[in-house]
Amino acid sequence: METPKPRVAVHKFSSCDGCQLALLNLGEDLLTLAERVELVHFAEAGPLDPDTEVDVAFVEGSVSTPEDIERIQHIRQHSRLLIAIGACATAGGIQALRNGADGAQWIAQIYSHPEAISSLAQSTPIASHVKVDFELWGCPVSGVQMLAVVNSLLLGVAPRDNADKVCTECKRNGYPCVMVSRGIACMGPVTRAGCGALCPGLGRDCYGCYGPAENANTDALAAQFASLGLTPLDIVQRFQSINSQAPVFLAAADKLRMRGDG
Ligand code: SF4
Ligand code: SF4
Ligand code: SF4
Repeated sequence: METPKPRVAVHKFSSCDGCQLALLNLGEDLLTLAERVELVHFAEAGPLDPDTEVDVAFVEGSVSTPEDIERIQHIRQHSRLLIAIGACATAGGIQALRNGADGAQWIAQIYSHPEAISSLAQSTPIASHVKVDFELWGCPVSGVQMLAVVNSLLLGVAPRDNADKVCTECKRNGYPCVMVSRGIACMGPVTRAGCGALCPGLGRDCYGCYGPAENANTDALAAQFASLGLTPLDIVQRFQSINSQAPVFLAAADKLRMRGDG
Protein backbone atom coordinates (compact mmCIF):
# COMPACT_ATOMS: atom_id res chain seq x y z
CA MET A 1 0.00 0.00 0.00
CA GLU A 2 1.28 3.44 -0.90
CA THR A 3 2.45 5.57 2.07
CA PRO A 4 0.29 8.69 2.36
CA LYS A 5 2.07 11.91 1.48
CA PRO A 6 2.67 14.44 4.28
CA ARG A 7 -0.09 17.02 4.33
CA VAL A 8 1.11 20.63 4.14
CA ALA A 9 -0.74 23.92 4.61
CA VAL A 10 0.40 27.51 4.06
CA HIS A 11 -1.50 30.08 6.13
CA LYS A 12 -1.49 33.87 5.91
CA PHE A 13 -1.87 36.29 8.82
CA SER A 14 -1.06 40.05 8.79
CA SER A 15 1.52 40.26 6.03
CA CYS A 16 2.22 41.39 2.48
CA ASP A 17 2.19 37.85 0.94
CA GLY A 18 5.86 38.21 -0.06
CA CYS A 19 6.96 35.05 1.74
CA GLN A 20 4.22 33.00 0.06
CA LEU A 21 5.38 34.45 -3.25
CA ALA A 22 8.91 33.27 -2.49
CA LEU A 23 7.50 29.74 -2.33
CA LEU A 24 5.44 30.23 -5.52
CA ASN A 25 8.49 31.62 -7.32
CA LEU A 26 10.23 28.27 -6.91
CA GLY A 27 8.49 27.33 -10.18
CA GLU A 28 9.51 23.84 -11.29
CA ASP A 29 10.86 22.99 -7.83
CA LEU A 30 7.43 23.73 -6.40
CA LEU A 31 5.85 21.30 -8.86
CA THR A 32 8.37 18.64 -7.81
CA LEU A 33 7.55 19.38 -4.18
CA ALA A 34 3.83 19.09 -4.90
CA GLU A 35 4.49 15.50 -6.06
CA ARG A 36 6.06 14.62 -2.70
CA VAL A 37 3.58 16.35 -0.37
CA GLU A 38 -0.13 16.99 -0.44
CA LEU A 39 -0.66 20.77 -0.49
CA VAL A 40 -4.05 20.93 1.20
CA HIS A 41 -4.27 24.65 1.90
CA PHE A 42 -2.39 27.41 0.08
CA ALA A 43 -4.85 30.14 -0.88
CA GLU A 44 -2.35 31.98 -3.07
CA ALA A 45 -1.74 28.84 -5.14
CA GLY A 46 -5.29 27.47 -5.21
CA PRO A 47 -6.08 24.77 -2.61
CA LEU A 48 -8.43 25.92 0.14
CA ASP A 49 -9.00 23.86 3.28
CA PRO A 50 -7.82 25.96 6.26
CA ASP A 51 -9.42 23.82 8.99
CA THR A 52 -8.05 20.41 8.08
CA GLU A 53 -5.44 18.38 10.04
CA VAL A 54 -1.93 18.70 8.57
CA ASP A 55 1.56 17.40 9.21
CA VAL A 56 3.24 20.75 8.53
CA ALA A 57 1.73 24.23 8.67
CA PHE A 58 3.76 27.15 7.32
CA VAL A 59 2.55 30.42 8.82
CA GLU A 60 3.27 33.81 7.25
CA GLY A 61 2.35 37.05 9.00
CA SER A 62 1.96 38.45 12.49
CA VAL A 63 -0.91 38.34 14.96
CA SER A 64 -2.55 41.76 14.65
CA THR A 65 -6.29 41.30 15.17
CA PRO A 66 -8.48 39.54 17.77
CA GLU A 67 -9.53 37.09 15.04
CA ASP A 68 -5.85 36.24 14.37
CA ILE A 69 -5.48 35.01 18.00
CA GLU A 70 -8.33 32.51 17.63
CA ARG A 71 -7.18 31.39 14.20
CA ILE A 72 -3.56 30.70 15.17
CA GLN A 73 -4.71 28.61 18.13
CA HIS A 74 -7.00 26.61 15.84
CA ILE A 75 -4.15 26.04 13.36
CA ARG A 76 -1.81 24.94 16.16
CA GLN A 77 -4.33 22.39 17.39
CA HIS A 78 -4.63 20.92 13.89
CA SER A 79 -0.94 20.87 12.90
CA ARG A 80 1.75 18.38 13.91
CA LEU A 81 4.52 20.87 13.12
CA LEU A 82 4.17 24.63 12.84
CA ILE A 83 6.81 26.68 11.06
CA ALA A 84 6.81 30.49 11.20
CA ILE A 85 8.12 32.06 7.98
CA GLY A 86 9.38 35.59 7.53
CA ALA A 87 9.94 38.70 9.62
CA CYS A 88 6.21 39.26 10.21
CA ALA A 89 5.76 35.80 11.71
CA THR A 90 9.06 35.72 13.63
CA ALA A 91 9.29 39.32 14.85
CA GLY A 92 5.99 41.12 14.22
CA GLY A 93 7.11 42.65 10.91
CA ILE A 94 7.02 46.26 9.78
CA GLN A 95 3.47 46.54 11.19
CA ALA A 96 4.98 46.12 14.68
CA LEU A 97 6.33 49.67 14.42
CA ARG A 98 2.97 50.63 15.90
CA ASN A 99 3.86 48.79 19.12
CA GLY A 100 5.72 51.81 20.41
CA ALA A 101 3.14 54.30 19.13
CA ASP A 102 -0.50 55.19 19.65
CA GLY A 103 -2.04 52.75 17.15
CA ALA A 104 -5.59 53.99 17.73
CA GLN A 105 -4.51 57.51 16.77
CA TRP A 106 -2.88 56.23 13.56
CA ILE A 107 -6.08 54.35 12.64
CA ALA A 108 -8.14 57.49 13.25
CA GLN A 109 -5.82 59.51 11.01
CA ILE A 110 -5.66 56.97 8.17
CA TYR A 111 -9.14 55.46 7.81
CA SER A 112 -12.36 57.33 7.02
CA HIS A 113 -14.27 54.78 9.14
CA PRO A 114 -11.90 53.86 11.99
CA GLU A 115 -14.76 52.16 13.83
CA ALA A 116 -14.69 49.46 11.12
CA ILE A 117 -11.10 48.49 11.97
CA SER A 118 -10.62 45.73 14.50
CA SER A 119 -6.95 45.76 15.39
CA LEU A 120 -4.88 44.78 18.44
CA ALA A 121 -2.70 47.48 19.99
CA GLN A 122 0.39 45.38 19.22
CA SER A 123 1.52 43.27 16.27
CA THR A 124 3.21 40.19 17.70
CA PRO A 125 5.16 37.17 16.42
CA ILE A 126 3.44 33.78 16.14
CA ALA A 127 5.62 32.38 18.96
CA SER A 128 4.05 34.88 21.37
CA HIS A 129 0.79 32.96 21.06
CA VAL A 130 1.48 29.28 20.30
CA LYS A 131 4.38 26.83 20.27
CA VAL A 132 6.44 27.21 17.09
CA ASP A 133 8.58 24.25 16.00
CA PHE A 134 10.91 26.16 13.68
CA GLU A 135 11.40 29.76 12.60
CA LEU A 136 12.65 30.88 9.19
CA TRP A 137 13.70 34.53 9.24
CA GLY A 138 13.82 37.03 6.38
CA CYS A 139 11.73 39.62 4.56
CA PRO A 140 10.97 37.74 2.48
CA VAL A 141 12.32 34.28 3.26
CA SER A 142 13.89 32.60 0.26
CA GLY A 143 12.03 29.79 -1.48
CA VAL A 144 15.22 27.74 -1.45
CA GLN A 145 15.32 27.93 2.36
CA MET A 146 11.70 26.79 2.56
CA LEU A 147 12.43 23.91 0.22
CA ALA A 148 15.39 22.90 2.39
CA VAL A 149 13.13 22.86 5.46
CA VAL A 150 10.53 20.67 3.75
CA ASN A 151 13.24 18.31 2.44
CA SER A 152 14.68 17.94 5.96
CA LEU A 153 11.24 17.19 7.37
CA LEU A 154 10.56 14.64 4.62
CA LEU A 155 13.85 12.93 5.52
CA GLY A 156 12.88 12.99 9.20
CA VAL A 157 15.75 15.25 10.30
CA ALA A 158 15.62 18.59 12.10
CA PRO A 159 15.93 21.55 9.69
CA ARG A 160 19.24 23.43 9.88
CA ASP A 161 19.23 26.96 11.16
CA ASN A 162 22.03 29.18 9.85
CA ALA A 163 22.31 31.77 12.61
CA ASP A 164 25.74 32.98 11.45
CA LYS A 165 26.23 36.57 10.30
CA VAL A 166 25.71 38.08 6.83
CA CYS A 167 29.41 39.10 6.94
CA THR A 168 30.37 35.43 6.58
CA GLU A 169 28.43 35.26 3.30
CA CYS A 170 30.10 38.47 2.09
CA LYS A 171 33.50 36.97 2.73
CA ARG A 172 32.60 33.66 1.09
CA ASN A 173 31.33 35.47 -2.02
CA GLY A 174 34.33 37.81 -2.15
CA TYR A 175 32.19 40.97 -1.91
CA PRO A 176 34.00 44.16 -0.85
CA CYS A 177 32.82 45.35 2.57
CA VAL A 178 30.73 48.52 2.08
CA MET A 179 31.36 49.57 5.69
CA VAL A 180 35.16 49.27 5.49
CA SER A 181 35.65 50.42 1.90
CA ARG A 182 32.98 53.14 1.66
CA GLY A 183 32.05 54.01 5.25
CA ILE A 184 28.40 52.92 4.76
CA ALA A 185 26.67 51.78 7.96
CA CYS A 186 25.80 48.09 7.50
CA MET A 187 23.76 45.80 9.76
CA GLY A 188 25.51 42.68 8.41
CA PRO A 189 27.68 42.09 11.53
CA VAL A 190 24.55 41.48 13.67
CA THR A 191 22.21 40.01 11.01
CA ARG A 192 21.45 36.35 10.39
CA ALA A 193 22.83 34.79 7.21
CA GLY A 194 20.69 33.09 4.57
CA CYS A 195 20.26 35.65 1.78
CA GLY A 196 23.76 35.16 0.33
CA ALA A 197 24.68 38.77 1.28
CA LEU A 198 22.28 40.04 -1.38
CA CYS A 199 22.57 43.76 -0.57
CA PRO A 200 26.36 44.08 -0.13
CA GLY A 201 26.62 42.07 -3.36
CA LEU A 202 24.80 44.97 -5.03
CA GLY A 203 27.03 47.56 -3.35
CA ARG A 204 24.58 48.63 -0.62
CA ASP A 205 24.32 48.06 3.11
CA CYS A 206 22.41 45.25 4.79
CA TYR A 207 19.43 46.67 6.71
CA GLY A 208 18.88 43.59 8.85
CA CYS A 209 15.90 41.94 7.19
CA TYR A 210 16.97 38.42 8.27
CA GLY A 211 16.83 39.36 11.95
CA PRO A 212 19.48 38.96 14.63
CA ALA A 213 22.37 36.54 14.20
CA GLU A 214 23.67 34.35 17.00
CA ASN A 215 25.94 36.23 19.45
CA ALA A 216 25.16 39.56 17.79
CA ASN A 217 27.39 42.25 19.29
CA THR A 218 24.97 45.15 19.02
CA ASP A 219 27.00 47.37 21.40
CA ALA A 220 30.05 47.21 19.15
CA LEU A 221 27.99 47.86 16.02
CA ALA A 222 26.23 50.83 17.65
CA ALA A 223 29.65 52.29 18.53
CA GLN A 224 30.84 51.69 14.95
CA PHE A 225 27.73 53.42 13.55
CA ALA A 226 28.36 56.40 15.85
CA SER A 227 31.95 56.63 14.59
CA LEU A 228 30.56 56.73 11.03
CA GLY A 229 28.49 59.80 11.96
CA LEU A 230 25.04 58.29 12.61
CA THR A 231 23.03 60.13 15.24
CA PRO A 232 21.73 58.19 18.27
CA LEU A 233 18.22 58.32 16.77
CA ASP A 234 19.53 56.96 13.45
CA ILE A 235 21.10 54.05 15.31
CA VAL A 236 17.92 53.27 17.26
CA GLN A 237 16.00 53.30 13.99
CA ARG A 238 18.48 50.83 12.46
CA PHE A 239 17.60 48.32 15.19
CA GLN A 240 13.90 49.21 15.13
CA SER A 241 13.05 48.41 11.55
CA ILE A 242 11.59 45.27 9.93
CA ASN A 243 12.56 43.05 12.89
CA SER A 244 11.84 45.58 15.64
CA GLN A 245 10.36 42.98 18.04
CA ALA A 246 13.29 40.56 17.82
CA PRO A 247 14.48 40.57 21.46
CA VAL A 248 18.13 41.30 20.59
CA PHE A 249 17.26 44.32 18.43
CA LEU A 250 14.64 45.51 20.92
CA ALA A 251 17.19 45.31 23.76
CA ALA A 252 19.82 47.18 21.70
CA ALA A 253 17.38 50.04 21.01
CA ASP A 254 16.15 50.15 24.62
CA LYS A 255 19.73 50.33 25.88
CA LEU A 256 20.47 53.32 23.64
CA ARG A 257 17.23 55.01 24.73
CA MET A 258 17.96 54.41 28.43
CA ARG A 259 21.33 56.12 28.00
CA GLY A 260 19.40 59.04 26.52
CA ASP A 261 20.88 58.28 23.09
CA GLY A 262 17.76 58.51 20.97
S1 SF4 B 1 8.22 38.99 6.11
FE1 SF4 B 1 8.33 40.62 4.58
S2 SF4 B 1 7.94 39.61 2.63
FE2 SF4 B 1 7.26 38.20 4.26
S3 SF4 B 1 5.09 38.64 4.50
FE3 SF4 B 1 6.18 39.92 5.99
S4 SF4 B 1 6.52 41.89 4.96
FE4 SF4 B 1 5.97 40.40 3.40
S1 SF4 C 1 29.39 44.73 3.76
FE1 SF4 C 1 28.23 44.50 5.65
S2 SF4 C 1 27.76 42.33 5.70
FE2 SF4 C 1 29.41 42.56 4.24
S3 SF4 C 1 31.28 42.25 5.44
FE3 SF4 C 1 30.85 44.44 5.42
S4 SF4 C 1 29.71 44.80 7.30
FE4 SF4 C 1 29.61 42.60 6.88
S1 SF4 D 1 21.78 41.70 2.95
FE1 SF4 D 1 20.59 42.13 4.82
S2 SF4 D 1 18.89 43.42 4.15
FE2 SF4 D 1 19.79 42.51 2.30
S3 SF4 D 1 18.56 40.67 1.94
FE3 SF4 D 1 20.32 40.06 3.19
S4 SF4 D 1 19.66 40.19 5.32
FE4 SF4 D 1 18.19 41.33 4.07
